[in-house]
Amino acid sequence: MDHNIRIGIGHDTHRLEPGGPLRIGGVDIAFDFHLAGHSDADVLLHAITDAILGAASLGDIGEMFPDTDQANKGRDSADMLSRAFSKVKEAGWCIVNLDCVVLAERPKLLPHRQAICERIAEILEISPSQIGLKGKTGEKTGEIGLGKIMQAMCVCLLGSN
Ligand code: MG
Repeated sequence: MDHNIRIGIGHDTHRLEPGGPLRIGGVDIAFDFHLAGHSDADVLLHAITDAILGAASLGDIGEMFPDTDQANKGRDSADMLSRAFSKVKEAGWCIVNLDCVVLAERPKLLPHRQAICERIAEILEISPSQIGLKGKTGEKTGEIGLGKIMQAMCVCLLGSN
């Protein structure tokens, strides 16, 4: 059977450590903590990268950018997403829409939502209107609610070019 749409899911977790700014969705936000990881630890862009790669059956972010490779140390996740998107495009897909959730006790995402959507839209060559982005807290429970970690989820729909 021949289908011309594909769905993908992405999820990621990173630890919060003292000292800002916080990079989320390719945007640096004034905050007293930052996300820690081998790359720049942009939890939202990592979830989006896995969602688009997954939808196109092109593997995952860890396979494309191994954390054992020194070239990926401190790497800009916008560059990682851009390279993943190039592979997705080469395979004949375009992005129909993304819907994302960021799970964090702080900071509030809403004041930064437009800037983040515009940055993601720029990387993926789409309109901000094709991106859904929501912030959810952990209700002060668990590692999210205690401000130890942030997580992000993304679903992506691809259409054939
Ligand atoms: Mg990650």
